[in-house]
Amino acid sequence: MNQHERIHWLRAELEKHNHLYYIEDKPEISDYEFDQLMQELIDMEEKNPSLADVNSPSVRVGGGVTKNFETIVHEHRMYSLSNSYSFEDLQDWENRIEKIIDAKPTYVCELKYDGASISLTYINGELKQAVTRGDGIQGDDVTNNIRTIKTVPLKLKGDNYPQKFHIRGEIILPYEGFAAINEERIQNGEEPYANPRNTASGTLKLQDSAAVAKRPLECFLYAIAGDNLGIETQFDNLEKAREWGFKVPEESKLCKSLNEVKAYVDYWNEHRHHLPYETDGVVVKVNQISHQEELGYTAKSPRWAMAYKFKAEQASTKLEAITYQVGRTGAITPVANLSPVQLAGTTVKRASLHNADQIAKLDIRVDDMVFVEKGGEIIPKIVGVDFTQRTIFSEPTQYITNCPECGTALERKEGEAQHYCPNTATCPPQVAGRIQHFISRKAMDIEGLGGETVQQLVKAELITNYADLYELKVEDLLPLERMAEKSATNLVEGVAKSVEVPFERVLFALGIRYVGETVAKKLAKAFKNIDNIIAATFEELVATDEIGDKIAESIHLFFAEETNIELVNRLKSYGLQFSLSEEELANATDLLEGKTFVISGVFQKVSRDELKKFIETNGGKNTSSISKKTNYLVAGENMGPSKLTKAESLGVKIISEDEFLAMID
Ligand code: AMP
Ligand code: ZN
Repeated sequence: MNQHERIHWLRAELEKHNHLYYIEDKPEISDYEFDQLMQELIDMEEKNPSLADVNSPSVRVGGGVTKNFETIVHEHRMYSLSNSYSFEDLQDWENRIEKIIDAKPTYVCELKYDGASISLTYINGELKQAVTRGDGIQGDDVTNNIRTIKTVPLKLKGDNYPQKFHIRGEIILPYEGFAAINEERIQNGEEPYANPRNTASGTLKLQDSAAVAKRPLECFLYAIAGDNLGIETQFDNLEKAREWGFKVPEESKLCKSLNEVKAYVDYWNEHRHHLPYETDGVVVKVNQISHQEELGYTAKSPRWAMAYKFKAEQASTKLEAITYQVGRTGAITPVANLSPVQLAGTTVKRASLHNADQIAKLDIRVDDMVFVEKGGEIIPKIVGVDFTQRTIFSEPTQYITNCPECGTALERKEGEAQHYCPNTATCPPQVAGRIQHFISRKAMDIEGLGGETVQQLVKAELITNYADLYELKVEDLLPLERMAEKSATNLVEGVAKSVEVPFERVLFALGIRYVGETVAKKLAKAFKNIDNIIAATFEELVATDEIGDKIAESIHLFFAEETNIELVNRLKSYGLQFSLSEEELANATDLLEGKTFVISGVFQKVSRDELKKFIETNGGKNTSSISKKTNYLVAGENMGPSKLTKAESLGVKIISEDEFLAMID
């Protein structure tokens, strides 16, 4: 195979496995093998720029930046849907249809996926353009971002597709991915997003497609548009789309009568909460395309389709109290404490009230009967008050003016919805929150110390910041409740051991707003030590990969604070890592990126530990046992025969100490 053929083979192979994994859910190769093929393709494309292809699977990792999204006029208008809220509405609709087509229609029922609609254009089996719905007449060209979505085929399967067509679908963000994004945002001290739908549509408009690629968006298809497509029914449309490699949810159903439609609606009204993504209704479509043509369109929507909107599940209950939570960054969140009530299969006791404006807008008061609803938001919200049940004794809610935890007067910045407690230094939840972040698994990962113990330590005034952890002694801890000699010793030892945690994680642990794990890694790599970061100018910071104005500003603010510099100096004095290690500095390369090693036997020139360090600093990975995933076995003297046989049988490359050293020379 020459290079040209190899690139084509890799692309076809990657697209095939992408489909098996994301659409059929039947992977045939491991993630690792997939990544290897992808890396090979990326490397080869770099060396052969003349063979570039905008629909190569390598574009799924993103990279292109779109400054302004171009406006595109839709070749076929993207209509809205008429809504119905009851079976009577559906019956009226059927009566109108029957008069026009003079026949009994059959229907296709589909779920109404709640996301952002998109129109994809394919020419000769390749994705050409992706445009948002916009106002239905014209939308934004978001092709680069859409190419990163794994469920969007870049090249179609088979050869039985029209030369040119448009296909419509919904870009959605499943609950799980939504929750993960929010968890990370909270970790970084950012506001969580409100719901999956807005997050999905917001993501489509991100300028950096690499950022889009990291979000687990999916694309569900539901309609084909074009001229002379030769397809007779909507149900066949869905089948065809599946055949060509699109993701079309299997919940869609052919219904021979309105009674079957009703059964479908009833079923999903109840079972939709078990779906991994959000839906807000059912879309009922007349199945025969010839009937659809006869029915046509109103100014806004097709006459041949009808959305049946699920009622957002609502319950009414009593607001017992409003309490206020103080987050790690000092943000105040009002929380409604409710009389427990059943809603969409769970018992609801609390609901977020968001902020002072929300409380004022709804005029929510303690002892009110309120309506709670569970929509896309995972936490239920209060949508209104039952004013008929309010007594004359009721008083408007006074938003708190002082921090419920430390008493400091709250502040609210221009244009921000949230109140903040400005007492970052001694407000207990802020203090505890920062320390809890510091010790968390992805940060310092301190053994023997958990979130509750931190609270206990803060309460007992044994610590007021994370540097204080390093001065704790066993005898200080013993008087605490549930603290035995053994756990106290473990805690102190765990803290002492954390001085070995590498620089990038220490940097993350400091809790600088917006500096998450990835950003901390980039900063560590680019600036090499903390002093360089503290001294860096705004321009130097934003010149770093993945670092924008917001992050740079936040880094400056953090180090402008005298107390933070003091903390860093104290941590330095305890021996924490504030620069890349000597080896990392001297030897850091990407030479072994993506390669997995097993070391076995005794070596002449370097110790086993040195070998391991070499592997890591050059981007490789150490593992202890040989598997399909192992790339190299570094074989020393007196190596066990079983390892050797296993490596041979799995085709793992066996190299000597000298050969290894030559690799990283
Ligand atoms: P609306 O925005 O309420 O006018 O509803 C129309 C929108 O529903 C369309 O623009 C689509 O984005 C969306 N939708 C979700 N699922 C479907 C589906 N199965 N068929 C048609 N439209 C759908
Ligand atoms: Zn406070």
